[in-house]
Amino acid sequence: MNWDYAGNLWAVDMLRQQMLAGVTRHAYLFSGPPGVGRRTLALRFAQALNCPQAGVSAEPCLTCRTCRQIADLQFPDLQLVEVSEGRSEILIDQVRQVKQFLSLSPYQSPAKIAIFRDYQFAKSSAQNALLKTLEETPGSAIILITVDALENLLPTTVSRCEVLRLRPMPIPTLAAELGTRLSLPEERAGLLASIAGGRFGTARQLAEDPDLLTRREAWLNIYPRLTSDTLLQRLQYVETLFPKNDRVGARDKRRNLVGMFNTWISLERDVLLLASGSGAAVANPDVLETIQRLAQRTTPVVSAAAIRCLERAAGRIDHYMNSRLVVENLMLELEEERPSRL
Ligand SMILES: [Zn+2]
Repeated sequence: MNWDYAGNLWAVDMLRQQMLAGVTRHAYLFSGPPGVGRRTLALRFAQALNCPQAGVSAEPCLTCRTCRQIADLQFPDLQLVEVSEGRSEILIDQVRQVKQFLSLSPYQSPAKIAIFRDYQFAKSSAQNALLKTLEETPGSAIILITVDALENLLPTTVSRCEVLRLRPMPIPTLAAELGTRLSLPEERAGLLASIAGGRFGTARQLAEDPDLLTRREAWLNIYPRLTSDTLLQRLQYVETLFPKNDRVGARDKRRNLVGMFNTWISLERDVLLLASGSGAAVANPDVLETIQRLAQRTTPVVSAAAIRCLERAAGRIDHYMNSRLVVENLMLELEEERPSRL
């Protein structure tokens, strides 16, 4: 039941009610932080619309050929549009191609679906090219868009869509879900729920890919050093992040850096909690000693300024500035805002 979807059940309910009442819209916008389940919900909706067994309950079976093809993005009446490898944005040509795809009648299914993933990476010109299609979507076509935050889209795009704002789950709720769905022991489920900040997709990735936790641990170890080392040492650290003959592709590299910044932001937020004497639970309970140590060497004002530096850096990477420059800049800004002598 509930499309086998974790969290934000109100959204499943809303989409299902619309289906049952025969009032589905032609364009939907799923907004929320990465890992919260935007793409998964879009795919579940596509399954519910097309599964031959969904029937009167609008509940996709998730096991038939149609449901499996949709989950694997192999369904002939579904197209996914995202930033291509080696590119930094969704191109106007990709939008044009999808418009063409949507204008043809479905090959085999009730609904023809285009999913635009991380639409914040579509420039204004690309978004403008889709506006008319959003307004007058042909026949059975449905456009599903995912985005990190609505303010990163043109208001004209947002106003043409039904907006679903997805939010992280409360940590104990997510921990319980992880326990049932992934059969994780209680303590591990609690830790992953907390690290993931209540986002089911992020927690599942952490559970399934041990590499992510290893990388997180390394990043958590580095941050205290960056805030106590000299500027020269900090810049030397940047060197190690960009080795010569690096084989990691540009997109993966950027993803890694965003992961690193987000890990540091999460850590510094914990530090701020402690430094300001808040009793709230930290997001990284497994490194409580580090957090305590850092909290003794800072003030809430300094810590908040460091968070702003890190958030700016994460935003810059997202907007595809030269990655190395972004990290070097961050080191300079951190030196100013969170000086090692403090
Ligand atoms: Zn099915």
